[in-house]
Amino acid sequence: MARAVPIEKLRNIGIVAHIDAGKTTTTERILYYTGRTYKIGEVHDGAAVMDWMEQEKERGITITAATTACFWERKGQKYQINIIDTPGHVDFSVEVVRSMKVLDGIVFIFSAVEGVQPQSEANWRWADRFNVPRISFINKLDRAGADFYRVFKEIEEKLSIKPVAIQIPVGAEDSFEGVIDLMDMKAIIWLEETLGAKYEYREIPPEYTEKAQEWREKMIETIVETDDSLMEKYLEGEEIDTESLRIALRKATIDRKLVPIVCGSAFKNKGVQPLLDAVIDYLPSPIDLPPVKGINPETGEEEERKPLDEEPFCAYAFKVMSDPYAGQLTYIRVFSGSLKAGSYVLNVTRGEKQRMGRLLLMHANTREEIQAVSAGEICAVVGLDAATGDTLADEKHPILLERLEFPDPVISMAIEPKTKKDQEKLSQVLNKFMKEDPTFRASADPETGQTLIHGMGELHLEVMVDRMKREYNIEVNVGKPQVAYKETIRKKAHGEGKFIRQTGGRGQYGHAVIEIEPLERGKGFIFENAIVGGVIPKEFIPAVEKGIKEAMENGVVAGFPVVDVKVKLYDGSYHEVDSSEIAFQIAGSLAFKEAAKKADPVLLEPIMEVEVETPEDYVGDVIGDLNSRRGRIMGMENKGVITVVRAFVPLAEMFGYATTLRSLTQGRGTFIMKFSHYDEVPQHIAEKIIGERMAGKSA
Ligand code: GDP
Repeated sequence: MARAVPIEKLRNIGIVAHIDAGKTTTTERILYYTGRTYKIGEVHDGAAVMDWMEQEKERGITITAATTACFWERKGQKYQINIIDTPGHVDFSVEVVRSMKVLDGIVFIFSAVEGVQPQSEANWRWADRFNVPRISFINKLDRAGADFYRVFKEIEEKLSIKPVAIQIPVGAEDSFEGVIDLMDMKAIIWLEETLGAKYEYREIPPEYTEKAQEWREKMIETIVETDDSLMEKYLEGEEIDTESLRIALRKATIDRKLVPIVCGSAFKNKGVQPLLDAVIDYLPSPIDLPPVKGINPETGEEEERKPLDEEPFCAYAFKVMSDPYAGQLTYIRVFSGSLKAGSYVLNVTRGEKQRMGRLLLMHANTREEIQAVSAGEICAVVGLDAATGDTLADEKHPILLERLEFPDPVISMAIEPKTKKDQEKLSQVLNKFMKEDPTFRASADPETGQTLIHGMGELHLEVMVDRMKREYNIEVNVGKPQVAYKETIRKKAHGEGKFIRQTGGRGQYGHAVIEIEPLERGKGFIFENAIVGGVIPKEFIPAVEKGIKEAMENGVVAGFPVVDVKVKLYDGSYHEVDSSEIAFQIAGSLAFKEAAKKADPVLLEPIMEVEVETPEDYVGDVIGDLNSRRGRIMGMENKGVITVVRAFVPLAEMFGYATTLRSLTQGRGTFIMKFSHYDEVPQHIAEKIIGERMAGKSA
């Protein structure tokens, strides 16, 4: 089928960086330079690309993990690069994780001034977990305080894969001019700093000969260590040709033994073209990677799909977006097989046959309709009714790709449209958002009837509220953000529930006896049926379980959901005529409530993992403040003038932290946080929360 390039010339990459390290700038430059090489669809010039980028920029943080296709020429061959957008803020780390599933390689950007920052470390660990090969771009070499060699060393010391510099900078800070390519031993010098500036390959300037030799030697040593036959040659003193080095480095990068390091200044338009060359040279194409695994839903057996067009079709829907023109756009990554526009697939996750309408290849500022999509490729589908995380497959060869676990929301907030007539539109929009983002939820407060939205952090919800206004013109009033507390129990207990009504006509009879015990944190809920001798007939057991689950939605401490409990149903009784599902459901619920009260119930609260970066002078204040927020300091690390403080802090204590940190550090501190786990709320604080909750209910 019609591919734009053969599969081995395809690169699906993500660009990942700490906020402000230059992800947006680098991406812009990549799209600019690739757009100049290949103009697709409607004729556009660089200015149009940049216009589109201005709009993106205005939106601030990028939260849409869409993809952009671009083309790059390397040694006379045409390559396709799909850039999968990964969000910058850790509130959305689930988006980073989701994109890890569909990208084949990552460009990690580090600032030559700030070096390896906490968020990059966190994202690096995610890339480890998903076995993603990567290269690094050390950016901002033009800035005062930039130091390529220091950052190289930091990567070497802090991150899991050994770096290998394939370039070193020429000049630094104000006088940064270009790079030395250690493979070809040539200097690449940009003649100006402007967008589209020309560059030249030159002899290495004499003052750099020694340094270049030293780093080339280091590069060769590192590469040959990963390849026995090259190592032999090397030890025998044979010259190793550059092509063999490139091939060995490509293999070592794909095997995640090495990370090639390149450098430049995206802002000053230096280093971007060689970065693209490195993406082509070292990051994998879809066929360089192992087949995907999944479960055949019919047999329950594990199966594999190779990235070949001849294999049965299977794809993963990694992003759902609503589009003002096309309605719902579903971004899919095809892992195997190929498919024509307009044909039918099985949505394996939902067990529904669905139609793939039009297929679109998204470019920087145009969309191109394509007739088919093949193994390894990414496209957007119009008119497919899928949700993020769904697997799509050939109906005759169903497979369910491993699902991502999305964490439950930890924060919620009441919202209300400013004008009553927006209420209906609001519910539609909330439904759309839920489909797009599995960590976002909306519900109605059972007591007050208010609309609640739930998410992964304050910022997450703020962005959603902002989108309601910008994209759908719905303005809402928002309540104070509320922490998503939960409840659990601390010891084993028994409970009995009887629901008996026997006055005239047909009665009701349900009776259940249970034992409950605590489970390890995060284990959720286990139900065990230990009924023997049919004291409760089989057909009523699910009703008892349903009643228990219902009771668990509103715990006995303060009405929060109960988690991490094992329930064993071991006794009860029934009545030949009067027993019914509803009676057993109520009995189950009553039994749970009784047992829970005796089982030492407690409140749980979400605990965040917080990493604060602050100039050394303010470390004491920062720690003091974290302590006052019930924080537990986990460690501290000195990185030159900056200190990183790591702590666990209850989410309830983190509201407004950004403002406090700013004033504590005169605007110089930054922090990231993400949900870590649930933990018990200390007694005196629990009392307050319960009091407030009860007051809220009676009000
Ligand atoms: P992102 O948050 O990672 O997307 O970072 P941006 O690309 O938005 O860059 C953050 C800031 O750093 C912006 O003001 C950029 O203009 C600036 N910046 C990005 N790259 C460079 C660079 O190479 N040199 C300099 N001096 N500034 C840069």
